Amino acid sequence: MIDYDYLRPDNLEEALRLLKEYGPKAAIIAGGTDVMVKIRNTRKAPEVLVSIRGLNDLRYIDKAGDYRIGALTTHRMLEESDLVKTELSALYDGASKVGSVQVRNVATIGGNICNAAPSADTAGPLLVLDAVVFMEGPDGKRSVPITEFFTGTYRTVLKREEVLTEIRIPGEMEEFGSAYWKHSRRKAMNLPILGIAVSVKMDDQIISDVRIGLTVAAPTPVRAYKAEDFLKGRPLSDEALSEAGRIAASTECCSLRDSLRGEAWYRAEIIETYVPRMARLAAERISKRRSK
Ligand SMILES: Cc1cc2nc3c(=O)[nH]c(=O)nc-3n(C[C@H](O)[C@H](O)[C@H](O)COP(=O)(O)OP(=O)(O)OC[C@H]3O[C@@H](n4cnc5c(N)ncnc54)[C@H](O)[C@@H]3O)c2cc1C
Repeated sequence: MIDYDYLRPDNLEEALRLLKEYGPKAAIIAGGTDVMVKIRNTRKAPEVLVSIRGLNDLRYIDKAGDYRIGALTTHRMLEESDLVKTELSALYDGASKVGSVQVRNVATIGGNICNAAPSADTAGPLLVLDAVVFMEGPDGKRSVPITEFFTGTYRTVLKREEVLTEIRIPGEMEEFGSAYWKHSRRKAMNLPILGIAVSVKMDDQIISDVRIGLTVAAPTPVRAYKAEDFLKGRPLSDEALSEAGRIAASTECCSLRDSLRGEAWYRAEIIETYVPRMARLAAERISKRRSK
C-alpha cells in the first residue's frame, strides 16, 4: 500500500495555495494517467497529491481571435472538436492517437506537455502551431512559447508551485494546414518511435511559410528550422520536399537518439519519408478548407 494525501481544491486559487503550503511535498495530478503509472512503477508517491481535476474552468476549446485550449481539456475533447479537426488538424491527429478511448477520456493536454515525455503526442503538433503556454503561480501569471517550454526529458520551465492554465494558438494559424504522423510499431496503445508534425501556408503552389516539428527524435521536441528555411518560397514539388526531409533528418537539425524503440539511422529514414508526406497532407487540408 502506497500512502499519500489526496486533496481536491475547488478553484485555482485554492490549488495554488495548497501547492505553496505543501511545497516540495506536493505534486499536481490532473487526469492521473502518467502520475498514477509512475507511483505504481516506482512504489513511491509524493506526500500530497493536489488534484486539479475538478477545476472545470480549465476545460475548454474556443476561438476568439486566437485559439484557446484549457489545460484540463482531455484528448477526447480535442478529438471530438470540429474546430480542432478542421483548423488545427495536427493537434487532432496527435490527440486522437493517445492511448485508448478510456485513456483519452481522462488524460489532459496539460498533463501531456507538463509530463514532457519525449513521446508526448501533442508536443509536435503544438510546436508547428506556434502554441504559447500560460502558467499561474505565487508570483503571478506568465507565458512562454512552446519552443521554450521543454528543457529536457521530463523537464520543463514550469516551477513546482505553478499550474499550467492554458495553451493558446495564434489566430493566424488558421491560414496553415497541418498534419502529424505518429510512427509506432503497432496501431493500438503504443508510444511513438517518432512523431513528425508539419504545418504549411500556401500561396498558390508556393510554400510561403512552414513549420516542422520532430518528437522522440531528440531529448526534447524540436523544430527542424534548417529544413523549414530551405522550403520557404519553394514550390510543393517532390524534389523540394525530399531535400527538406533529408535536411530535417540530418545533424543540421538535431542529433537523432538511439534508443530501444528505434535506432538513429531508422529514425532518419522515417523523417526523410514522412516530412514530405505530412507537408503534402497539410497542403491538401488547407486547400480543401479554402475550396469549401
Ligand atoms: C495506457 C496508457 C497509454 C498512453 N498512451 C499515450 C500515447 O499514446 N501518447 C501520449 O502522448 N501519451 C500516452 N500516455 C501518457 C498519458 O496518458 C498522457 O501523457 C496524458 O496526456 C497525461 O495527462 P494527465 O492529465 O493524465 O496527466 P497527469 O498524469 O495527471 O500528470 C502528468 C504530469 O503533469 C503534471 N501536470 C498535469 N497537469 C498539470 C497542470 N495543469 N499544471 C502543472 N502540472 C500539471 C503532473 O504533476 C505530472 O507531473 C499513455 C498513458 C497510459 C496509462
